[in-house]
Amino acid sequence: MVIVGAGFGGLTCARALKRAAVDVLLVDANNYHLFTPLLYQVASSLLDPSQIAQPVRALIRPLPNCDFMLARATGADFERRVLVTDHGEVPYDYLVLAAGSESNYFGNASVQEYAIGLKALPEGLALRNWVLSQFESAQYVADEPARRQLLTFAVVGGGPTGVEYAGALQELIHLVLRKDYRNLDLGQSRVVLLEGAAAILGAFDPGLRAAAVRSLRGKGVEVWFDALVKTVDDDGVELEDGRRLAAGTVVWTAGVKASALGGAMELPAGRGGRVAVDGFMNPAGLANVFVIGDLAAYEQDGQPLPMLIPVAMQEAKHAASVIRALVEGAIPRDFRYSDPGIMATIGRNSAVAQLGAVKLSGFPGWVMWLAVHLINVVSLRAKLFVLADPADRAGAQPPALGAAAGVRGACSRGASTTSRDFRKLRVTTLATSSTAPTTSRPRRGAPWPTGGGSEKIRNRASG
Ligand SMILES: Cc1cc2nc3c(=O)[nH]c(=O)nc-3n(C[C@H](O)[C@H](O)[C@H](O)COP(=O)(O)OP(=O)(O)OC[C@H]3O[C@@H](n4cnc5c(N)ncnc54)[C@H](O)[C@@H]3O)c2cc1C
Repeated sequence: MVIVGAGFGGLTCARALKRAAVDVLLVDANNYHLFTPLLYQVASSLLDPSQIAQPVRALIRPLPNCDFMLARATGADFERRVLVTDHGEVPYDYLVLAAGSESNYFGNASVQEYAIGLKALPEGLALRNWVLSQFESAQYVADEPARRQLLTFAVVGGGPTGVEYAGALQELIHLVLRKDYRNLDLGQSRVVLLEGAAAILGAFDPGLRAAAVRSLRGKGVEVWFDALVKTVDDDGVELEDGRRLAAGTVVWTAGVKASALGGAMELPAGRGGRVAVDGFMNPAGLANVFVIGDLAAYEQDGQPLPMLIPVAMQEAKHAASVIRALVEGAIPRDFRYSDPGIMATIGRNSAVAQLGAVKLSGFPGWVMWLAVHLINVVSLRAKLFVLADPADRAGAQPPALGAAAGVRGACSRGASTTSRDFRKLRVTTLATSSTAPTTSRPRRGAPWPTGGGSEKIRNRASG
């Protein structure tokens, strides 16, 4: 069987098939698994990229029936049962599509051109470098309004990613950069969170939303509500209601849509390009094709499930159980998602956590977040230890941070409990299927890493 995507869904599916009588080929356009919950920490210089990206080959080492192919899937011929990739055709008996999602700019060309997304690793790295370059430049700008503009950072989107990034950026500026840029008056810097609706963190309880706003404002982040972006340009953002924010950096976290792969395969796409699936994770009429994670839209109680890691992982386990049942001639059952809760961190020592009836904010929220994280890591380690064959165990790698994430932000710098092990497998070769790897800002004129954000920054940097 072939799995497209070595993200949370794809990797979990491969793991769940470890003991099944199938040969698994994992296909991904990158040779690393990205732990997205901590991408904002790379973008705010708090973590090194190698702490959130792990080589897929190392992760699948304990899976004797699984191999990896670095390739970008571009289509499929469902009649002939072949996956089409930029490295040729791959035949399959069962196909699992777990290609995730991408930034959604809602057709706004100015946003797409000038704002920086925070979805892929190259974007996180490019954003980190861009932010630091703003401080370098600001030192030599005598004109005060121009300097203030360079030091103003607009973060569009009050979802968990925008909230977490805004909080982390504010702390980076005032706890770290303040010491490094002694000649700059960092009181002139601003981090402004722009939310189009009347509240941030829409999926959370109203009390927690209000607590998150208080926490952000307490750290000095400005929060603007009803701030619908009309255009973005070199000088900042213009809002639909006529307000304007002069900003040298505009970060876009306001929307995601399903990977374009579903459309390329002509699978029936609903809202946000997500592919409608039934209780076996099959799109209509394709019993040997499974779509899971962000790419899939499974409706439960009349609503599509959210684009979250626990959804992707539970759907992956379910697709694996259906495939096992088909291989063994058993009858598969329908899928039902069990919600473990949601959390978002707001800088150091503050978080909002909603786990069933339990709702916590501030420091207690952060303690809960830490506890959940530790439980996840410990239970996953135990699982891997029990499941791994003795031969695998000798060369075993630490558990994927990703798989340890039950809820939003369930891993943090604290994840460096495993950093000793990580050092052994530091990602020295982050490769994409068709582009040479790079993890640092290259010379002007040299090729940049792939990803919209870096392209945009290059365009802006070269004027
Ligand atoms: C910044 C950020 C922070 C987030 N934080 C959280 C959080 O704290 N908690 C939470 O629950 N969710 C969080 N999410 C959402 C979470 O990342 C997704 O819901 C989850 O990753 C979905 O899993 P997936 O397997 O569908 O896709 P992904 O994990 O995104 O994996 C998709 C994989 O497919 C590969 N791929 C894509 N297209 C192709 C192709 N054509 N050919 C080959 N390979 C391809 C990609 O390289 C990638 O490896 C966050 C998302 C972002 C962007």
